Amino acid sequence: MSLPNQPSSGSATVYNYGSINIDHVYRVPHLVRPGETLSSTDYQVVLGGKGANQTIALARAGGQVSHWGQLGRADEWALKTLKDAGADINDVAVLEGSSGHTVIQVDDEGENAIVLFGGTNQSFTPERIDELLAGADSEGWLLLQNECNDIADVIRQALDQGLKVAFNPAPMTPAIRELPLKDLSLLFVNRGEAAALVDIDEQSDADALIEALQTALPGVNIVLTLGSEGAWRINGERNEPLYQPARPVQAVDTTGAGDTFIGYYMAALQAGCDASTCLERATAAAALAVQRPGAATGIPTVDEVETFLQ
Ligand code: ATP
Repeated sequence: MSLPNQPSSGSATVYNYGSINIDHVYRVPHLVRPGETLSSTDYQVVLGGKGANQTIALARAGGQVSHWGQLGRADEWALKTLKDAGADINDVAVLEGSSGHTVIQVDDEGENAIVLFGGTNQSFTPERIDELLAGADSEGWLLLQNECNDIADVIRQALDQGLKVAFNPAPMTPAIRELPLKDLSLLFVNRGEAAALVDIDEQSDADALIEALQTALPGVNIVLTLGSEGAWRINGERNEPLYQPARPVQAVDTTGAGDTFIGYYMAALQAGCDASTCLERATAAAALAVQRPGAATGIPTVDEVETFLQ
């Protein structure tokens, strides 16, 4: 990757404690009704999960990322997708159980209905968590979302051993408010997550969201993404927030925009870029992703982002 200040090999690895989901996507004429049996007109199996998507984005950005994950033996093929993106998969365990997976119906209007089964994303043992953390370089970053079990323990232990922690509270649950959010190095939130964290109306304008986040979490560096309205980086020291408008593009599928943004932001941070460059690169990558169908499949390569930025 041609970023300035690229870290030398072995420094500041991002360890992503993240989900790996297998998405089973069924195209249907309408969402299935109670008691109905409906034939699907198309079926695809794709890699998904916020964890895997963020790892792929970070790796495609040229970042150094080690995925800490678990999946079932039947889905070992997904490892190749992570590896081909450039991620370190040595700490992805292949288990006997069922992988995290979704059953997704998509109808002719683009409406969807999703059943999620957490599977092996939810079966990390305390011993395995200890083992993963014991192998981490304390110069590194821990990145995590809310799709694997015991994230509170993982965050606390990582902070205790001096890792910098970047957290994306997705999907948002009430338990997230009990986490040591004030000790995070970086918090990534979208509109819904921000509003739920600070208890304000989701339709509040950016200024109100920023003010509420700064008041609730003084000292924490926060990246707030507001879809096509752009993104803000709120400095922990209450300096003026940095704003990056979204790129004016024709979006065809915004699934995974946030994951692409986070992966690219983390890779730029790892490469030593300042906050405005991190925002600029993440925004460009997400703009490319929203113009393509699919989540992981739509994540651009670093060369595509460089070309787009020129
Ligand atoms: P998702 O859950 O769909 O992956 P998210 O809700 O976590 O996404 P958003 O805030 O919607 O995250 O989007 C993240 C970033 O992606 C935005 O800050 C912006 O840069 C880019 N983005 C999202 N939607 C659009 C769009 N319609 N046009 C251009 N850029 C977009």
